[in-house]
Amino acid sequence: MSFIVTETLEKNYGSTKVFKDININIKKGEFVTLLGPSGCGKSTLLRCIAGLNDINHGEIYIDGERVTHKSARERGVGMVFQNYALFPNMTVFENIAFGLEMKKLDKSYIRNKVDEMLKLVHLDDKANFYPDELSGGQKQRVAIARSLATEPKILLLDEPLSALDAKVRKSLRDQLKEIQRKTNVTTIFVTHDQEEALTISDRVFIMDKGNIVQVGTPEEIYTNPRTLFMAEFIGNYNILKEDETRKVFGNDIFGNVAIRPEAIYVREAERNYDLDEFIIKKARVKEFSILGNVIRYFVECKGIDLRVDLLNRGKGKVYEKDGILELMFLKKEIKYY
Ligand code: ADP
Repeated sequence: MSFIVTETLEKNYGSTKVFKDININIKKGEFVTLLGPSGCGKSTLLRCIAGLNDINHGEIYIDGERVTHKSARERGVGMVFQNYALFPNMTVFENIAFGLEMKKLDKSYIRNKVDEMLKLVHLDDKANFYPDELSGGQKQRVAIARSLATEPKILLLDEPLSALDAKVRKSLRDQLKEIQRKTNVTTIFVTHDQEEALTISDRVFIMDKGNIVQVGTPEEIYTNPRTLFMAEFIGNYNILKEDETRKVFGNDIFGNVAIRPEAIYVREAERNYDLDEFIIKKARVKEFSILGNVIRYFVECKGIDLRVDLLNRGKGKVYEKDGILELMFLKKEIKYY
């Protein structure tokens, strides 16, 4: 049996169905992300697994034990929220020690455990600080340390990075991954940010309107979105409806298609290609923006706007506005829906 299992889980708020028939299996030590647009039911599902929300139907198992009717505390769950939820009148040390004190553990054990947690989140020098003397990222690291101190069976993270600015968010995302690898705690992470989900997870569960619509590794999810909704949500895919496909490709291909911006190349005169692999169409550069190592071109091809991502190879290699390009669409990378 997997480490976390839900069977036919159903949750309603009054007459509103949040989800039904949710069946998930998560392996021990896995880092899984629930990803989906706001309101699709991610937090509610997480809270049901935590035991913070009751359910209307179904079963939940953690580490082989049926916990459906157990309290949050009995489930051995560590939880981290977006808003840190630290005790403002306690120091960092006391915040992390809190759960251990409640368990009436030995003083020297508590001291050693808190020291170990402080090292894990790189806050050894902040033990005597109060939460409002810390930055947002540091507060969240305290919250993570506090939830791990009691050695929970599973760690549940509800949009823990959403309140942080972009730079801190990225760095904490990397640290979180490192912490999870070190502790090997089975983790469920909730986010609406696809980049976050793809970079941090072993597997991603995509939710839409209360359903889990695709499960896979980040690579599988990114390269093979199962539906047009997911292609739109996951990558920066160019989505073409049937009539748009006809405008761009004429009789070459048909139907609803999705094409990643990096699966379109620009033909360069001096290079040889296996032309059977590509469909070639002319396009005009409308705009471009330099994203760093990648340049994103906004081009127009037979009246249809497309995004094309090319590696930034430095000065003299940028295609200027109104320039005409020969776009090469790699046939095997075109997804049909
Ligand atoms: P997400 O985490 O994906 O943004 P939520 O799980 O928070 O979504 O919410 C899913 C749905 O359940 C939403 O339609 C939301 O309005 C509803 N909902 C969440 N919490 C409550 C509540 N306490 N009472 C009533 N409806 C709720």
